[in-house]
Amino acid sequence: MSGLILIVEDEQDLAKTLDYNIRRDGFETRCALTGAEALELANQEPLPSLVLLDLMLPDMSGIEICRQLRMGPNTRGIPIIILTAKGEEIDRVVGFEVGADDYVVKPFSVRELMLRIRAILRRTDNDQVQEEAPDLLQFNELTLDLPGHRVTLNDEEIRLTALEFRLLRTFLTRKGRVQTREALLNDVWGIKADVTTRTVDTHVKRLREKLKTAGSYIETLRGVGYRWKEKPDEVEE
Ligand code: CA
Repeated sequence: MSGLILIVEDEQDLAKTLDYNIRRDGFETRCALTGAEALELANQEPLPSLVLLDLMLPDMSGIEICRQLRMGPNTRGIPIIILTAKGEEIDRVVGFEVGADDYVVKPFSVRELMLRIRAILRRTDNDQVQEEAPDLLQFNELTLDLPGHRVTLNDEEIRLTALEFRLLRTFLTRKGRVQTREALLNDVWGIKADVTTRTVDTHVKRLREKLKTAGSYIETLRGVGYRWKEKPDEVEE
């Protein structure tokens, strides 16, 4: 696995340690010590494959950077791992709301961080593979015929509206990842849509009912959004 990791961290010692270890694992790196620098380096070609983002920076909060990266046309798809200090009352809800993919609490082991980086990059790679071969999307008993806009559950057709179909496709291409209501609104409804996050809840509920047994793969993360559970053994209900 290779790629370019953008390290955003103002503590120079930690930045150096991260830089050293990430390079040793075969990645390229860029380091930013301030928020302004982070936004600049995140937009530079080649774009980073992942951003490690410290929350407490001298000029700007990591949350604000996260938000801006998510809005930027170049950077919106780049996975972000937030680095937070122990005791910093930034909970995971806020991190996920602004679009972070994961977070790690300091002090963390570099080994654990590397595992998380690799896990996220692997997931992103898989998504790209699916985008390149987009005719059929399969998940256990569910099959989506993408050009035909048809969904079958154990070979039985499920009738979905165009919007429900897009919602399901979005979930399936991002299995295991937290999808905030805002992200879903943006990606499924389109950024200009004049709807509230409550609309997302209504449609997810409807989709879940239509999917019958497969509906239980959709996990509700209260106050955050939804996640399509990756493995059948995680399915409860
Ligand atoms: Ca800091």
